[in-house]
Amino acid sequence: MTLTPLHIDSNSNNIFVDGSWTAAHSRERVLAIDPSTEEPIGPAPDGDGEDIDAAVGAARAALVRADWARTTPQERATYLRRMADRLVERAGEAGDFLTTENGMPIAITALMNIHFGADILRYYADLGDSLQLEELRGTSLVRREPVGVAGLIVAWNGPLMLAIAKLAPALLSGCTVVLKPAGETPLSVAYIIDAAIAAGLPAGVLNVVTGGRETGAQLVAHEGVDKIAFTGSTQAGRAIATACAQQLKPVSLELGGKSAAIILDDADMDVYLAQLPIVSMGGNGQGCVLSTRLLVARSRYDELRDGLRATIPTLPVGDPHDPATVFGPLAMERQRDKVEDYIRLGKAEGFDLLVGGGRPAEFDKGYYVEPTVFAGVDNSSRLAQEEIFGPLITVTPFDSDDEAIALANDSGYGLGGSVFSTNQERGVEVARQVQTGTIGVNGYQPDLNAPFGGVKQSGMGREYGPEGLEVYFQRKSIYGARPVS
Ligand code: NAD
Repeated sequence: MTLTPLHIDSNSNNIFVDGSWTAAHSRERVLAIDPSTEEPIGPAPDGDGEDIDAAVGAARAALVRADWARTTPQERATYLRRMADRLVERAGEAGDFLTTENGMPIAITALMNIHFGADILRYYADLGDSLQLEELRGTSLVRREPVGVAGLIVAWNGPLMLAIAKLAPALLSGCTVVLKPAGETPLSVAYIIDAAIAAGLPAGVLNVVTGGRETGAQLVAHEGVDKIAFTGSTQAGRAIATACAQQLKPVSLELGGKSAAIILDDADMDVYLAQLPIVSMGGNGQGCVLSTRLLVARSRYDELRDGLRATIPTLPVGDPHDPATVFGPLAMERQRDKVEDYIRLGKAEGFDLLVGGGRPAEFDKGYYVEPTVFAGVDNSSRLAQEEIFGPLITVTPFDSDDEAIALANDSGYGLGGSVFSTNQERGVEVARQVQTGTIGVNGYQPDLNAPFGGVKQSGMGREYGPEGLEVYFQRKSIYGARPVS
């Protein structure tokens, strides 16, 4: 079966360069596979050096062309708003396509990618309305200037959201862009391209080259790219940061996580259990910020274990296109293999398997794994230290708030996290002491007003908020702009 996500001038040989779909130079293809049927959806070019070169050339030319370079932030904001409107117009169709592409439940795909993506575009458009690019300080004029051509590289778990989180501030700043989606989800990006075309974005401002790891590496290494913004694994982030260092190219990295949910002795267990499908296991467990390490006060340990045993089997596993489904298939075979390796490890370590631990019997197709919980897990074990990226959570008891904080911080990662307590102030006080970029009290709800990103191995730089815009600017000081009176 071959699907194209849009009835536009798109086909499997094309990349999007200088305002139109054009034939790729590369003859190689990446192939999107529907993870619930294991059937191919369609190929896309596995872009090569010449494709990247063409895209970067178009982005560099657009950077100085009057139709973009002379726009004000307020004018650029109008493009962002039009893009948001167009995305929302196609939300139903796009959500359905995204679910086919990566297996995420339909109940969240459009919400996460389209509606939240539109919110990001509108948030930055609103910032643009009042953005001043120049300020006088003493006798100097301090200017914000776009950093130049931005290379954006993203993962497959939120293909449009992750791209828009970079694209919106990059465009508002006046940068031009070359975007590379993940090799596993190369097709849904057409909805962003469609929105850009519908918004009348000038040619060359947004260019898209599909492909895998090597395509990304070519983009990072290209001397015509002035900045890289990346979302993906810590391993790839390290390679990208190393390559950027060679050219002293600024880079922002949103990487992996292994966050803790700290359930204090006064927590309302029902509040945690009601949010577990989102906070700890959302997106089939394939979320960078998920609180997958459950740390629970020993006095509530049995209650949590009983709650998990009672709750998780009631959450429907099934066809991701069914609005009732909470757990669909994992996005690809290698993700399922990885999760199953960790399930074997948990069993071999002798941890207490509370729920799951196998494949659901009812599916003979699709990369399904049962949502799985191991309790009594040692925080220093691989199961508690390594990012699994699937529906597998661990439970570890603690005896004091200080021990909970120490266990939460005993991790190479620091991206998300959550604290559950009926005493809001106590929850906030614990949250203050967790070494992480973001953390929620009695839930985890990202807020566009607040910066998002990681510490330690979870990345550097921030998205969202005014901080997410600043990474696309460089500052210039013009001394003596105002004569000394
Ligand atoms: P990955 O790092 O293998 O791939 C991500 C993207 O980077 C893809 O587009 C890929 O083609 C490209 N890529 C890979 N190696 C590259 C290289 N050396 N140079 C240039 N490009 C390269 O990631 P994955 O395993 O497919 O995705 C899952 C990971 O993404 C998880 O670790 C997850 O935590 C992380 N993630 C982080 C966030 C965040 O905001 N912090 C959000 C979503 C996912």
